[in-house]
Amino acid sequence: MTILSLEHVTKKYGDFTVFNDLDLKINEGEVTLIIGPSGSGKSTLLRCLNRLEDIDEGEITFHDAPIKSETHLRENVGMVFQSYELFPHLNVLDNMTLSPRIVQKRSRKEAEQEALSLLERVGLKDKAKSFPHELSGGQRQRVAIVRSLCMHPEVLLFDEVTASLDPEMVKEVLDVILDLADEGKTMVIVTHEMAFARAVADRIIFIDGGRVVEEGHPEDFFTHPKTERAQQFLQNLT
Ligand code: ADP
Ligand code: MG
Repeated sequence: MTILSLEHVTKKYGDFTVFNDLDLKINEGEVTLIIGPSGSGKSTLLRCLNRLEDIDEGEITFHDAPIKSETHLRENVGMVFQSYELFPHLNVLDNMTLSPRIVQKRSRKEAEQEALSLLERVGLKDKAKSFPHELSGGQRQRVAIVRSLCMHPEVLLFDEVTASLDPEMVKEVLDVILDLADEGKTMVIVTHEMAFARAVADRIIFIDGGRVVEEGHPEDFFTHPKTERAQQFLQNLT
């Protein structure tokens, strides 16, 4: 089943076309990895998927229907960023329960119970009352991930969530994402961690120059990239 679909999507910033006539389907239970050079439009693509960015042409559908409202879409498509985006003045628990209470009108008690069990799952239950500045980068990013889970999104988008972490913290964050993949969560992930990409992906989408250059199974993509552009990209990584 397709949850999100991009059809003939064109996105421009002024005169600059980021991508042109792009088609992409995000299927239920699949982990899709978006890979491509810096500046190829990976972040823009994720932002279009939950309509943080408008598109210029084409259509994005959610469950095969035009998007009814941006609020409805954003409730169902969660996003985690490189820079955590936690509210600095709220403690961890309040960061996690704010949207469930305000947007979904859930009770504080129920929202907090769920938040605490998610924190326990990622080993951070004792940090519930801590403020973001009291946490390490890896801890903040784990909070950002479970915060997005509190809204029960159907799809989770991850934009280079380990890019600003010290190397020793990368694994603790990637392990959380691997765990979500094992659970069958639908995710779209942008990352430079190629070993992780290979391990977690059901499908690799390689984008460059405003289009999908290559798409395939991770083993095929990493061992026998079909296009010269993908071959070059993979060679330059090592
Ligand atoms: P990636 O995430 O793959 O590095 P981005 O999606 O951030 O790429 O950017 C794609 C291209 O669009 C880049 O050339 C970037 O400079 C440009 N771009 C990104 N955001 C904006 C913006 N808000 N205004 C103008 N150009 C932008
Ligand atoms: Mg980016």
